[in-house]
Amino acid sequence: MVNKSKNLAIAVDIGGTNLRTAFVDEKGKIIAKNIVKTVRKGRSGNIVAEQAIGEIKKIIGDSGVRKYAGIGVSVAGPIDPKKGASVNPPNMNFRFVPIVAPLKEEFRIPVYIMNDCIAGVLGEKHFGAGKKFSNLVYITMSSGIGGGAIANRNLLMGRGGNAAEIGHMTVDTKFDLPCSCGKGRGHWEAYASGNSIPKFFRIWAKNCRLEAELPSEAKAIFQAVRNKDKITLKFMEELGKINGRGISNVIAAYDPGIIILGGAVALSSGDLVLRYAKKNIDKFLRLPEIKISNLGENAPLLGAAAMVLNKQ
Ligand SMILES: [Zn+2]
Repeated sequence: MVNKSKNLAIAVDIGGTNLRTAFVDEKGKIIAKNIVKTVRKGRSGNIVAEQAIGEIKKIIGDSGVRKYAGIGVSVAGPIDPKKGASVNPPNMNFRFVPIVAPLKEEFRIPVYIMNDCIAGVLGEKHFGAGKKFSNLVYITMSSGIGGGAIANRNLLMGRGGNAAEIGHMTVDTKFDLPCSCGKGRGHWEAYASGNSIPKFFRIWAKNCRLEAELPSEAKAIFQAVRNKDKITLKFMEELGKINGRGISNVIAAYDPGIIILGGAVALSSGDLVLRYAKKNIDKFLRLPEIKISNLGENAPLLGAAAMVLNKQ
């Protein structure tokens, strides 16, 4: 039974693929959780908020909990904190996804919003491997690449709530790949995100004049590495340079004590990503610890709860 209901938060994590809803207590314990596929079709982005409202009602109904401090929402960025919305998110099908207003109107309790990577670093700081650190960076490697940073215990928000959009740092000019953000070339996300790895493999193989079977998913590439496929192992050296540059940029920018990697690519294949990246990380500053998240997929969800429980 849940007694200290006033110390519970409703946490929602709206990603390009999944929408997660949970009740979380102040120790970061997930009391109840739902996962559904994020709606991708509809007349407008309002439909995402409607889906979130439906999921929150479901979790309230199922758990029987009636008192909660508020709703924290982690959403695929970039966000506009003044409008309480996600705006032009590259990994969702809508240009404008309003969150705060529709949730406040429905539930009449405080609603907080952050982009999912900043929520991720908050989750790691309060409930994960970042607890003991004053300076930490969370990197998500999933369909895209993003980050969140805490410097001297301060959560870096940036002017519009999108500080540490590290996936859009430039890491290459040789292949000069266009980024899914549509705003630049050579960005880290254009090479090393789950969506980009197969595209990068194709272009790299063509460039090296290699006849290779062309994988359609990052998963297949990592599997080929585990099977010691020679061409794929060679590709990993190139991918390692890209990830090494990305991580070197992060170290130079934030001087963190720890970097924590989350997101589907890191959670399934982070050992391989790091094995090849580490050879290429510049030793200009003292190297931080670099770890795969032990919160699994829940870092942003727990960060969303931390927003509500006044832990930021
Ligand atoms: Zn970009």
